[in-house]
Amino acid sequence: MSQPPQAHPSLEHIASCVSGYDPDALPVASAQQVIRSFIRPIDSVEKLAIRAALDRVLAADIISPINVPAHDNSAMDGYALRASDLGSEPVRLRIAGTAFAGRAFDGQVGPGECLRIMTGAIMPAGCDTVVPQEFTRDGDEQAVTIPPGVVRAGDNRRFAGEDLKAGQAALARGRILRPADLGLLASLGIAEVPVQRRLRVAFFSTGDELRSIGEPLDEGCVYDSNRYTLYGMLRRLSCDIVDMGVVRDEPEALEAAFRSAAENADAIITSGGVSVGAADYTKQMMAKLGDVSFWKIGMRPGRPMAFGHISSGGHGAYLFGLPGNPVAVMVTFYFFARDALLHMMGAAPAPLPLLPVVSRTAIRKKPGRTEYQRGILTTDADGRRSVSITGSQGSGILRSMSEANCMVVLHHEQANVAPGDMVDVVLFDGLT
Ligand code: AMP
Ligand code: MG
Repeated sequence: MSQPPQAHPSLEHIASCVSGYDPDALPVASAQQVIRSFIRPIDSVEKLAIRAALDRVLAADIISPINVPAHDNSAMDGYALRASDLGSEPVRLRIAGTAFAGRAFDGQVGPGECLRIMTGAIMPAGCDTVVPQEFTRDGDEQAVTIPPGVVRAGDNRRFAGEDLKAGQAALARGRILRPADLGLLASLGIAEVPVQRRLRVAFFSTGDELRSIGEPLDEGCVYDSNRYTLYGMLRRLSCDIVDMGVVRDEPEALEAAFRSAAENADAIITSGGVSVGAADYTKQMMAKLGDVSFWKIGMRPGRPMAFGHISSGGHGAYLFGLPGNPVAVMVTFYFFARDALLHMMGAAPAPLPLLPVVSRTAIRKKPGRTEYQRGILTTDADGRRSVSITGSQGSGILRSMSEANCMVVLHHEQANVAPGDMVDVVLFDGLT
């Protein structure tokens, strides 16, 4: 019997479609391609009040139910009039009344007349132009003088529906709602929107040398920092987080952790235990519970990584087995897991934007792998931006990540960089 249409294609099948696929020397772009083809979005929607929907993924297109603004209105405080009444000499117009925002003038404005009008007030019938207050002369209760040449016909008039027309698409499904979008929804009078449910992501650290905060640091041990960086990165993606702590490199403990994660989460992120030298029950258990590939990716930091899907008790979850080194965890999260998680959430993520800037420093780089160096982007007094790399770039040196405000992306084929050359950077902070 043929496979049902919903069945998950195997990783092997997907990899066979990637030209020159070699798990032991996989270019970053190929790994991203395999992940992207393997991932399926969750499909579960909830309705939220718009404030609660900030940073969530919109689950349906939003069509504007009304014209915004609903009426032609004034963009300035001034006088609404007919442009045809103006000439090459100053013109004195009789003031027919006043229109306020939210309180329209209910009389007529005839030829040779004008209406005192406030910003946002409805334009009176027959008038097509607003002269700002400051361009007028000798205004009193009865009349005002408009000098020649201060406006063109149609100036300072906002049209009904110029922001959004009724029936026009306002926001597309898959959009991650930003502050402006909440305002836009409010401007349409929409109180609630359908969003994808939060993605549940379970994570744990593996390694017998790891200690949790509060435990004594025995000889040769380090505090587990990866769970904290992962927590931060996942929070930024508005995921539901299941922190499973440190799991010892013992088969029973690992199996129980992987099974519980697969039963309770949509995605699992682990750190450590996927490199060549690792005490490798982690890898054995990943392979035992599902369809998982172990890659050596052509990148630095972050060469070893596991990716796939594991199941337990009829539930399954995507698995990202990230390397243990603290910088490698962040780099592999940002360049592989992040995009995949966003896809799972039903978002339509654009690739991380690359900004080309001048490198102040020489950077050694071997073609044939992608490098992510921690950078500090600065702007000089003339507004010129340039980047230098932070001191030590070791993949265990988390301080380099903390000091940096960007990552310098040295592409697969790129070679050494000389001072003054252009390089691409990804900024850590952006206005969203
Ligand atoms: P592994 O990938 O397990 O071989 O780990 C590589 C390096 O990263 C080792 O020096 C580990 O001690 C370190 N490491 C692994 N996991 C963590 C963690 N959760 N927090 C801090 N360092 C870690
Ligand atoms: Mg380890």
